[in-house]
Amino acid sequence: MTETTRPRTRFAPSPTGYMHIGNLRTAIFEYLLAKSGGGDFILRIEDTDQARLVPGSVDVILKSLALAGVTYDEGPYYQSERRGIYAEYAKRLVETGGAYYCFCEPKERGGYEKYDGACSRVPRAEAESRLRAGEPWVIRQRIPPGRTSFADAVFGGITVDNAELDDQVLIKRDGMPTYNFANVVDDHLMGITHVVRGSEYLSSTPKYSLLYAALGWEPPVYVHLPLVLNADGEKLSKRRGDASFEDLVAMGYLPRAIVNFVALLGWSPGDDREFFTLSELAGAFSIKGLSKSPSVFDMNKLTWMNGEYFKRMDPEEFFGMALPSLKESVARPADLRKIAEMCRTRINFISDIPALVDFIDALPDYDASLYTHKKSKTDAAVSRSSLLAAREALAGAEPFDNDTVYRLLTELAAVMGRKNSQLLWPARTALSGKPTSPCGASELCELLGKDETLARIDIGISKLSE
Ligand code: GLU
Repeated sequence: MTETTRPRTRFAPSPTGYMHIGNLRTAIFEYLLAKSGGGDFILRIEDTDQARLVPGSVDVILKSLALAGVTYDEGPYYQSERRGIYAEYAKRLVETGGAYYCFCEPKERGGYEKYDGACSRVPRAEAESRLRAGEPWVIRQRIPPGRTSFADAVFGGITVDNAELDDQVLIKRDGMPTYNFANVVDDHLMGITHVVRGSEYLSSTPKYSLLYAALGWEPPVYVHLPLVLNADGEKLSKRRGDASFEDLVAMGYLPRAIVNFVALLGWSPGDDREFFTLSELAGAFSIKGLSKSPSVFDMNKLTWMNGEYFKRMDPEEFFGMALPSLKESVARPADLRKIAEMCRTRINFISDIPALVDFIDALPDYDASLYTHKKSKTDAAVSRSSLLAAREALAGAEPFDNDTVYRLLTELAAVMGRKNSQLLWPARTALSGKPTSPCGASELCELLGKDETLARIDIGISKLSE
């Protein structure tokens, strides 16, 4: 591969269930590597291990990629539909000595593993007559003596003693290739320039290198990604309860926030930028930014990032997302667009909205101690006199909108020789009944209307008179 070759990468998931975060990250980096070099990204479904297939998982993969905005230029190709191709190359390897027929009975699933290579020593003529006699067989890779080296773009040069490599099965009894063989054949035939995958495949890579060499093919650039660990320092896994991409979306994380967050697991742009769209990522991506140290999937950081995405979101788009929740939470006639804007900068999830706006329909039963607030310099006595004065001023306020009310209340504070907060804090408390509210006193007045405002202030005054 020369520098000027357009990259071609592939996402090659096995359809065994769901899209875990590690898989999503692999897909994102493959996509970014291709796009950053003006190349193509290919989707290939590695479904030759029929025993592990989970129905519906291809749909999950397609849906997840679409949600993430990771679009493929070719595919999906299905390895199960290409089975004839692999057998042909395996036979070619048998011809050239890179593989051999093995007639041993597999002991159990995976029982090929500790194979001692006995059939590699069976003379060719004998092997051929056993084939003609219809004995069942598998084709195994013949590992030559010596050492094997390869270069990984992230982990550097790696050399292993071939004695550590097993004569892995290439073609199984059912005629299907193993993943280990099919991925080499397909990566070559599909012109893949960079193989990006998890570092758990590093240990198999010498065997792939030997296959490329035995077939006379040039290997791709290997780009192995560092591990992703959960908060407990364990490898992410569905079995341990770590969320999949779909789970995170269902929990209320925005796909764009997840993509942004996941792209920063093991990759850095080289500066301190943190917020990227997918196309900005493609502009910034380079293999050099990949790290070999494990990264930690920090849910708290993802949650923070999700909130930041709402803060940066176009108000109209946010309104569309928030509307169902607002309609359910607010029955009082009110400007839902305005309420949405109050919520937008104060939530991490759409599901945070109901608790934020619950006071609009019904004043919560709150405790008078809320009126004591050191920072605002208010206590029960100050609050009571402020509310009495505010009530009188507000009763005559016309129009009853944010600006008018704000002006009235601050003028009143000046007249009374008080700080604005000594008027505004008690009013806000009386109107919301909560220690925090998504907006200030004057906005609350406009939101609730004059009648409700005065009624709530009366409740406040009576609480403070008890
Ligand atoms: N089918 C493998 C997996 O799902 C792909 C590994 C690779 O990218 O080569 O993990």
